[in-house]
Amino acid sequence: MKQLDEAIWSISGSQAGKKLTIVGGTHGNERTGVEVVLKLREMIEADILKITGGTCNLILGNPIAIIINQKRSGPFSPDLNRSYPTDLLNLEPDGSYEDSRARLIAPFLIASDVVLDLHSTTNPSEPFLCCLNSERHEEIYRWFTCDKVLADPNFITGGRSVTTDEYTEAHGGIGICYETGQATDTSRVDEVIKDILNLMSDLKLIDHKKTQSPNSKKEIFELVDSIIVTADGFRFAEGFGNQSWEQFKNGDVIGYHGEKALQMNYDGMTVFPHTPINKPEGSRVACLARKV
Ligand SMILES: [Zn+2]
Repeated sequence: MKQLDEAIWSISGSQAGKKLTIVGGTHGNERTGVEVVLKLREMIEADILKITGGTCNLILGNPIAIIINQKRSGPFSPDLNRSYPTDLLNLEPDGSYEDSRARLIAPFLIASDVVLDLHSTTNPSEPFLCCLNSERHEEIYRWFTCDKVLADPNFITGGRSVTTDEYTEAHGGIGICYETGQATDTSRVDEVIKDILNLMSDLKLIDHKKTQSPNSKKEIFELVDSIIVTADGFRFAEGFGNQSWEQFKNGDVIGYHGEKALQMNYDGMTVFPHTPINKPEGSRVACLARKV
């Protein structure tokens, strides 16, 4: 593979075709994505994996954060997965390492037909895909071994289009984040690679036979809200805040701002919960999703 920049590699097949970019380590402590990218690069360099058509880019998002095994490159650094506003390349650099990485990576996202950004969650979770829900997205997400798709068409996550998948979408490609499980758990590396090989085969990047048929039957959820710590603080009710995909029903109390109960007026699920202890006012402690 040709190294095009720090932790950015690319290889093209002899046939023209689709451009696929796979990113791991946008958050340095989410190890499955890092291992998947390094393993795919090894397989390509050892000729075990032959890219015969199109282009495959492999990127480690945040090399410094990966080395120190932290989400970001430093305690006050921005989140790389909030560093891709649509007009990034027209803005003045902000001097942060994450901003410099986003600027190096952005042209690859712009040029790709499909971008897969591999993440993991802070708390335990089954694997799930974060992307828009449409037929063209289904063509891609059906290759992944998980049951749920979480769409965020109203930008609840970042308030506006700022993540790798959103940046890709804003520039005409298909952007998908894959939450592969909990950050410390790397037991799904081989499964993720198998799924990627099936996708590569479907996109005609490789000649390998597919090892399983696609699964389009996924439950689709949409982010509708988030829980933000107020001046009164926040604590989860018993049975909530421990993992993604905790189900709540209309009428359930899922937490408390001070003494005030947070009572839900719809059926849904909590996703991306964070321990609220010591979280300052304004911090998000979970997102809330509804089945579509
Ligand atoms: Zn992440």
